[in-house]
Amino acid sequence: MSVLEPHHNFIDGKWQPAEGGGRHQIRNPARPDEVLGDFPSSAPADVDAAVSAAAGAAKEWARMPGPQRGAILSRFAQLLESRKAELGRIVTLEMGKPLGEAAGEVGRAATEARFSAGEASRLDGHTFATERAGYSCQTVLEPLGVVAAISPWNFPVVAPVRKVAPALACGNAVVLKPASITPWSSSYIVELFESAGVPPGVVNLVIGSGNAIGNRLVDDPRVGGITFTGSTAVGIPLNERAARRLAKVQLELGGKNPAVVVDYDDLEGAAREIVSAALQCSGQRCTAISRVIVGEDQADALVQELLAQISRIRVGDGLDEKTTMGPLSSKTQLETVERYVQIGRDSSAKLLAGGRRLAEDPDRQGYFYAPTLFDHVSPDSPLALEEIFGPVLPVIRVRDFDQALEVANASRYGLAAALFTTKMKCAQAFMRTIRAGMIHINHGTASQAHVPFGGVKDSGLGAYSIGHTAKEFYTNVKAVYVKWE
Ligand code: NAP
Repeated sequence: MSVLEPHHNFIDGKWQPAEGGGRHQIRNPARPDEVLGDFPSSAPADVDAAVSAAAGAAKEWARMPGPQRGAILSRFAQLLESRKAELGRIVTLEMGKPLGEAAGEVGRAATEARFSAGEASRLDGHTFATERAGYSCQTVLEPLGVVAAISPWNFPVVAPVRKVAPALACGNAVVLKPASITPWSSSYIVELFESAGVPPGVVNLVIGSGNAIGNRLVDDPRVGGITFTGSTAVGIPLNERAARRLAKVQLELGGKNPAVVVDYDDLEGAAREIVSAALQCSGQRCTAISRVIVGEDQADALVQELLAQISRIRVGDGLDEKTTMGPLSSKTQLETVERYVQIGRDSSAKLLAGGRRLAEDPDRQGYFYAPTLFDHVSPDSPLALEEIFGPVLPVIRVRDFDQALEVANASRYGLAAALFTTKMKCAQAFMRTIRAGMIHINHGTASQAHVPFGGVKDSGLGAYSIGHTAKEFYTNVKAVYVKWE
């Protein structure tokens, strides 16, 4: 698909414009004057058509033996892998991350899809001992039917694939609604599902604003489950809405992920891991390290190492191979970052790096922001507590490990957390005490493609995605009793 070609929804195996012909353009965040393409602004009628198509196709798809569905998903994973460069470029264009990160994202999505392909052969139930002679008792896993998948813009390939692939493996049909600013990657992915042999109606794509069509998708009684990745602010009301009809939900929401550094002997290594985990994707990762909590005795030395790492970052257009950090993905994100930096400037925190837009360079007309480090941030500052979703790293100094644990747990979020320490006792206490879905000891907050992924508190609800836990969301358990004698 080429730049500026008009894009469509994909419903019942056909590419078609939105009902009423509504359209919107997407732009390159590195060069906002550059229009990348023209996409549908769907209406509730498009959701209705997509859900009808999915409901019509779901039964046959569920009847297909799991290993056959898995074979189709394996082909999809292969296609994804083979299009890494082309799709990676689309990710860079519409979302802004550097080409290397974008290609890495496509590779990661292919690995997750391959795992899902295998899961289609592992939809196991249990057999049970029976209380009554002549009876057998077992459980089987059944698909939900139609799954609605609502995805964010920060991982335009991984996020939809992480939803659609396991949904299909488990025998569901899907209606995918990607984020409005990054629909191009989803169009491309849906083409690959089609090329891999997914039958018409099994994967449907509806592009449009969440405000305009989200409620219709969530309210449709034919939708058996809603998997949503996005902000906590949108996720909570979505959950309330879904709860009215007891629809199953999987929510993957925001984070404020701490890196605690206490009694560590390699501060340079810790800083490398922290800065990489904090600033990849320009800090727009749900699992980005977004606060550093450090013991007072190591704070000065760690801050120097953090500054050294930050000074190596080269901000620029993601298409430039020398770039290590791209622009923010939208003007809205840029303004959010500017608002929080102003809060930091108005507080007693010390701004040590960044704190400004990079707009003075004529090549940088986009939403570029300098990597920013604040030291001496108070634990009750909004910088320390709220998700900024940008390249802003606050450092909070603490007396000792006990205070570090207290501060780390003080956030409303509970997604990922890292600890750098040489003390086994601290590592054990951290694993037991920190309320988060994912804990990383002595490395940054990077996950793997087959390990359950999710959060607690305001970071998520429902079964974890990725790995064997995904099928807990995409299937229902049915208990079956048979009297055979
Ligand atoms: P968002 O604004 O909450 O949007 C997420 C998705 O929901 C988009 O497709 C959006 O559509 C849609 N949406 C908006 N309003 C809706 C409604 N009323 N009903 C149904 N859908 C609606 O989040 P975002 O800004 O795209 O993504 C950033 C957030 O995602 C961050 O908070 C980040 O931490 C979180 N995230 C979490 C994870 C995780 O695994 N925990 C992973 C990635 C990102 P529009 O684009 O049209 O508004």
